[in-house]
Amino acid sequence: MDSASREAYDGMHGYDDVRTAPRALATEAVHAGRDDLARQGLHAPPIDLSTTYPSYDSRGEAARIDAFATTGAEPDGPPVYGRLGNPTVARFETALARLEGTEAAVAFASGMAALSAVLLVRASMGLRHVVAVRPLYGCSDHLLTAGLLGSEVTWTDPAGIAEAVRPDTGLVMVESPANPTLAEVDLRAVAHACGSVPLLADNTFATPVLQRPAEQGARLVLHSATKYLGGHGDVMAGVVACDEEFAGRLRQIRFATGGVLHPLAGYLLLRGLATLPVR
Ligand SMILES: *Cc1c(COP(=O)(O)O)cnc(C)c1O
Repeated sequence: MDSASREAYDGMHGYDDVRTAPRALATEAVHAGRDDLARQGLHAPPIDLSTTYPSYDSRGEAARIDAFATTGAEPDGPPVYGRLGNPTVARFETALARLEGTEAAVAFASGMAALSAVLLVRASMGLRHVVAVRPLYGCSDHLLTAGLLGSEVTWTDPAGIAEAVRPDTGLVMVESPANPTLAEVDLRAVAHACGSVPLLADNTFATPVLQRPAEQGARLVLHSATKYLGGHGDVMAGVVACDEEFAGRLRQIRFATGGVLHPLAGYLLLRGLATLPVR
């Protein structure tokens, strides 16, 4: 690619204004989450299938687990136990965060597990009310409508969001383009209408190749990684790209409720990301 088309490409992908991501998207897709490999003399990322890690100081490890349970901050050194974190899954999380232009990402066993964790984070803060715009993916609609996690939903159109927000509103949720109708919403306008309430944008159908909702004001970017991120029909997974503060809370919920992603799935997703821009 000559320098003019490189510039056009980078501009198209928003890379001239993403401070944390100076590389072009297609470059990030093959390098993010793998930057240490060459130093280690590796090409393919290792798959760490450990559920537990060697224990040398049980009191210290108990303290690290307690610290993780209360802050969700990633522990230094080995994860102690597979429900706290996994190095292979962390590579996928790093890569997806780079592609979405967010500080962090937290992966789950499915897209629905990821959405559940977001709702639980907010409910645990006493913010059970959700404002949502239809159409949403069928099971997301079902989860909110049935109130299975104790949430209460108000359905509205984008123009009605500001009016629907209450003091106990913990989340505004939209999906754009929606599955399967491809209905779209103006994310920037919606983010503005949310005020201080976090906006969750389900970006499953667009993927970060076509749209990065965090740049438009969404605090949370949800993916069913089962779809395009995986891309080969052999992985179920979900992921939320967000700021580090929200990521810590999501890790706390993931640790306490157990919706972790299997390391092999983490590997397959990282492999899927490599071809996402060409697909
Ligand atoms: C599939 C899908 C989900 C749910 O994800 P699972 O991985 O099936 O749990 C959520 N949102 C959208 C847009 C989807 O297509």
